[in-house]
Amino acid sequence: MSSSCLCDQCSALCCRYFVLEIDAPQTRQQYDDIRWYLVHQNVFVFIEKKKWYLGIYSRCKHLQEDNRCGIYETRPRICRQYSTENCDYHGGEYDWEVLFSSAEQLWEYAEEQLAAKSAKLRRARLREQKIAAKKPAADAAPVVAKPAKPAKPAKKRTRKLPKLLPGLVMSPAALRRSNGQPTLPRNGNGNGKSHSLPVLRG
Ligand code: SF4
Ligand code: SF4
Repeated sequence: MSSSCLCDQCSALCCRYFVLEIDAPQTRQQYDDIRWYLVHQNVFVFIEKKKWYLGIYSRCKHLQEDNRCGIYETRPRICRQYSTENCDYHGGEYDWEVLFSSAEQLWEYAEEQLAAKSAKLRRARLREQKIAAKKPAADAAPVVAKPAKPAKPAKKRTRKLPKLLPGLVMSPAALRRSNGQPTLPRNGNGNGKSHSLPVLRG
């Protein structure tokens, strides 16, 4: 008697692996972390609708020799929600865009993606530099002129006269007698030598 349940004709393909969503790698280091998954046995990684998944082939402990579930009544929620519609039985209907089954495959893809990303960044930087160079000067921040310092009032030019020593202060009459030349007082011992006092001129 043939069964109407698809699972009865299947070797329980969906009970032999599980899949977890992982963060999409952005950096070389993150790609390298995914490479680490792939250096292990029975691991695969795939991208589906721009999301990354880690898959591990591992037979469920409750799968029986006849490919029936040993805990069917109490099977986990994930098993209950899984349906035969588009399940693994329908081979070739997967939606993944890229599948990596080895670290080498993943790394080749990583190198391509990282190189493309670097080129994109370089182009964006160049574009920004060109836009900045074309920007009119008016857009630039206004230059605030330093207020001019108030002009200092012109200094009154005064003639600096030498300090007059009391001994050289002569009356206008004495000055006339000496033909404009001050008469230097003699020193105390009467040797006629002049004091070393400054001579007023002009
Ligand atoms: S759900 Fe699909 S893959 Fe899983 S046992 Fe049934 S037929 Fe097989
Ligand atoms: S619990 Fe049952 S249905 Fe779920 S994976 Fe294991 S054998 Fe399959």
